[in-house]
Amino acid sequence: MSARANETGPGKFGRGALVRTSANLDGLLECVECTTAIEGRGDAPITCPHCARVYEICNGALVMMHSGNALFPPQAYAAEEGGRTMQGATGARARIKGLAPSRSVNLVRAENLKKIARERGGPNERILIIGCGHQKQEILDLFEETQAELIFCDVDKASDTDLYCDSHRLPFRDGCLTGVITTAVLEHVLKPWVVAEEIHRVLRADGYVYSEVPFLQAVHEGPYDFTRFTMSGHRLLFEKFDERGSGVVAGPGTSLTWALTEYFRALSGNRKVAAALRLLAQLLFFWVKFTDHFLGQSRRAQEAASCTFFYGTRREDAVDPQDIIARYGKSNFFHT
Ligand SMILES: [Zn+2]
Repeated sequence: MSARANETGPGKFGRGALVRTSANLDGLLECVECTTAIEGRGDAPITCPHCARVYEICNGALVMMHSGNALFPPQAYAAEEGGRTMQGATGARARIKGLAPSRSVNLVRAENLKKIARERGGPNERILIIGCGHQKQEILDLFEETQAELIFCDVDKASDTDLYCDSHRLPFRDGCLTGVITTAVLEHVLKPWVVAEEIHRVLRADGYVYSEVPFLQAVHEGPYDFTRFTMSGHRLLFEKFDERGSGVVAGPGTSLTWALTEYFRALSGNRKVAAALRLLAQLLFFWVKFTDHFLGQSRRAQEAASCTFFYGTRREDAVDPQDIIARYGKSNFFHT
């Protein structure tokens, strides 16, 4: 691997050019009901030639939910344009939340993704971003100098996505992608081990996964928050990958900022008072998160981290759990 993208100059698609922000899914899709390969760019409804299942367009993106999806059935996307399929703060509450200083740092994402873009930015690279939310432009900017094709997917109608699909059943053919990026998503899925298996299935033999998930962090997205991972748990989730890098995304400073703000919120049983108390704590203690910059990537920081990352390349079989134990605490911070 080399800094190939740097040598080839600007990507073939300029920043903000339409083709970079709407992926061409031709030759990639399969029916999520019957696994038959189906054809379509993703910009118009598709009918499966085998089972006749019709996939519609919503908000300009193809909807490829399985008919048996309990939380996100296809009909949830059939109604009016816009809207949400996940509950979340709206109106005044969302605006107040937006004004408060952030409680988290991210020590590594930009650098990690830039490194991946340098190593894996060639013309045959096709990367799926699972649970893209509103990060599309940020990620496009990080891959701007590459020729990689990016595909954005999410379940939330309010997201800025190319495709609505569920990561438990990705509508992609086996081995058709070269990379999967998922940041702050796997805590929100019902069965993360099923999602990890799906990621493995859709990746080419030399494919990779980049994942960030929280560890010591209070509930967010309300009922759609299911799981937390230690660094070992995060590693084990991707047991069918060789580790290329892992470490702290946000350390004990961010953990403490979250703990303090959520502690203040818990002091009142009244929702509005609780929100005001949390805002107050956020204004008082937001700076604590910045201590993560000098707590860095130590084992101690990892063991009290708010969020960790794992970067690995695909292998056929699972790694020996003994290897996971043996490597524990050994620094493997790949971009330095
Ligand atoms: Zn079908």
